[in-house]
Amino acid sequence: MNNNLNGLPFNFSKYPCRVYPASVNKLNGDGWAFIAEKNGEDMLIVMGSKAVEYQGKHFQNAGFSCIEAPLNSANAQILRQHFTFTAPVPVLRKDRSFGLGDRLGIAGEGHLQAMVEYDAYPVLAQQSSRELNLTQRSYVDVLDAASWAVFRHGYRRGFGADGDHLKKPEEVEYVLSLGFTMITLDCSEYIRNDVDDMSMEQVAKECVLTDEMRQRYLGQSFNVGDEIAITFCEDSLRRCILIYKKAIEFAAEIFKVHISDKTDQVDFEVSIDETATPTLPKQHYFVANELVHRGVKIATVAPRFCGEFQKGVDYIGDVKQFDAEMKVHAAIARHFGYKLSIHSGSDKFSVFPSIGKNAKGRFHVKTAGTSWLVAMQVVAEADPVLYRQVHKHALERFRDATKYYRVTTDIANLPDVDTLEDKSLPELFMLNDVRQLIHITYGFILTDKDDKGNFLFRDQLYVLWNKNRELYAQRLKEHIGRHLKLLYNQ
Ligand code: ZN
Repeated sequence: MNNNLNGLPFNFSKYPCRVYPASVNKLNGDGWAFIAEKNGEDMLIVMGSKAVEYQGKHFQNAGFSCIEAPLNSANAQILRQHFTFTAPVPVLRKDRSFGLGDRLGIAGEGHLQAMVEYDAYPVLAQQSSRELNLTQRSYVDVLDAASWAVFRHGYRRGFGADGDHLKKPEEVEYVLSLGFTMITLDCSEYIRNDVDDMSMEQVAKECVLTDEMRQRYLGQSFNVGDEIAITFCEDSLRRCILIYKKAIEFAAEIFKVHISDKTDQVDFEVSIDETATPTLPKQHYFVANELVHRGVKIATVAPRFCGEFQKGVDYIGDVKQFDAEMKVHAAIARHFGYKLSIHSGSDKFSVFPSIGKNAKGRFHVKTAGTSWLVAMQVVAEADPVLYRQVHKHALERFRDATKYYRVTTDIANLPDVDTLEDKSLPELFMLNDVRQLIHITYGFILTDKDDKGNFLFRDQLYVLWNKNRELYAQRLKEHIGRHLKLLYNQ
């Protein structure tokens, strides 16, 4: 215990605790800071003159004034000032980046363990407003959890913070004020879903092509490399305009007002993936070309790919067709100098090789729900009684959860947890229907209360995860590692 601490001059007989060795840092030549576990809880210990800047309990140790500072938000803010590697940076401009949503605020250690074996840059803080509402957490919580994880782990390569699927200017402004380094602008509310069903005549009636648009797109062939050319006919151009015009204007406006003066600190992702139909490659080209024409600097674009990217389960669809279209999407992204962003990237094992190969080692893949599923698998492994209760509650809440997420789960297919042996419970997570059931009911599992106003499961679950931190980190490392291995295997 407490070995290899870089000469940390701390007297442990006066203050018994267990130090995380990688967290030991010198503070500007004037003192030290580290994280230690004391009575089952992690604390930041700061020694020296900077200790007074933190909130907490003061004490003397080894001739230093020290503070025992809880891992709260005020202290995280000071930590980010003292140790800049605990503050997020823009990482989308690196060749490979990987989004690691952590709905519970406890996955950082496992995520970092998975990432250090690869050169991809993690986006550790990544959450949508929907996820925050459902888990009753805030953007501040998400950022703080990432800073603490990075400090505890001694990870210094840099991580990103993504305000994911933001739809409103005020949300963009808010997360930027917190220091987030990536905005994923969800343009879905401005994308028309009815155009595919319209006839050529209807389309022609609704969209009169201007001379400018005719000149920009018709009668030519756009070479995007790899012997791929994009062409437009009048009808396909009209459809592009009808479907995406408002979304393009929205993205351009958000960029101009909120991001254009800080492109060195912020990556801008344009997400057009939450639509009823896939983004055709030429539509992707059109959106990118129009954004570039308006001076928008894009780090990543998230098209909606063919087939289905449902949450927490493998790709559903024709892998060959996916591969053919991915080739074109990736070429378009390269042509314009941004990366493809793959949303709902959790567990899409059958298409990772295609993504890695076609993107030629430049990609951003987002995952979120899968880390939550691993956390629940740990519950099944470590506390079968609690797991059965949670599982049954999830079944009761399944219908309500389908309001937020579209899945094809058939709960009639599920085995009865009461008839399964304890040791078989973790294997439930090999079944897609169980994965989707647990995946989409997380909000209810975490926030539902009994008649007295106490959480049904939240507190018990966190106690269990806290006790099984190493197991969770290990399982996450294995699971996220499987994603990266396939993406890197070109
Ligand atoms: Zn998305």
